[in-house]
Amino acid sequence: MEIPSTSEEAEPAADFLKPSFAFILILSVIACTHSGKKTEEAHALLRSDTIHITDEKKPVAIAGKKSSKPKKKIYLTFDDGPNNGTRNVLDIVQEENVPVTFFIVGEHVFASQGQRHNWNRLKAAGNIEICNHSYTHAHNHYDRFYELPETVVKDMEKTRDSLLPETNIVRAPGRNSWRIDSLQYTDIKKSKPAMDSLQKAGFIVVGWDLEWHYDPKTFLVQNTAEEMLTMIDSAFARKRMRYPNNLVLLAHDQVYHSSADSLQLRTFIQKLKNRDDYELALVSAYPAIRKHRVLADTTRAAIPAADTAKSPKTDTL
Ligand SMILES: [Zn+2]
Repeated sequence: MEIPSTSEEAEPAADFLKPSFAFILILSVIACTHSGKKTEEAHALLRSDTIHITDEKKPVAIAGKKSSKPKKKIYLTFDDGPNNGTRNVLDIVQEENVPVTFFIVGEHVFASQGQRHNWNRLKAAGNIEICNHSYTHAHNHYDRFYELPETVVKDMEKTRDSLLPETNIVRAPGRNSWRIDSLQYTDIKKSKPAMDSLQKAGFIVVGWDLEWHYDPKTFLVQNTAEEMLTMIDSAFARKRMRYPNNLVLLAHDQVYHSSADSLQLRTFIQKLKNRDDYELALVSAYPAIRKHRVLADTTRAAIPAADTAKSPKTDTL
């Protein structure tokens, strides 16, 4: 609700009242003797922030204006599915109707009938996005995996070719590295050649700004929903993110297998939905990725048709 705050805005109301001031004063005295309550209401009306007299002839009602301030974006991402936590996560985000991104591991899709079923559910779900988190997840031997950049690229290509031909957005297993045009960051320097190779092969590598941590032995979350919100507020306040006002949050499907932890996830999402200053979005809407796509489309449009046919498959977004 807007409240007139300047003296220029308040002035016309006083002018409007001047000519008949004596008459109003008499009426007010009479009214006071009849009903103190009515006088209070009249004064409340003059003080009201919904009616503001700006012109002598026609009072103008000013409706409460909604803030046009852009919302800060949060990209909630879930890694390592499909697994036994995926079903719970999918149920919650569908019921709460929020956009989230799943970074899946190719091998997990074929590991069991149940995981294949979860994969089919992910593919059929609306309002979510599925991106590539490698085929093998390095079998959790990251140092050895990243020593061979060609193997890393082939591993990503295997998931892309077998399951996700429509996206080139990937997350490197076990590494918080970024490659989106000039947005470059490598957390462990020994992995740099492999990350560069992924980018050269046409992949967009997305890391994270904040993680919802869990205990790797028990797979239980280490932060409550309330604590996560506090950490998010702090990250925005301190500008701890790769791209201003855009925060990528990492979570893991498997953690929400337990009912207590899935309750924390639901509570977290509900609390976020109640915040006017935050908005959840899909990773493909991340500003640097949107810009990359516009640039890639422009470049493709400039290439003659014959050359486009020769372009590597990884150029297709
Ligand atoms: Zn992972």
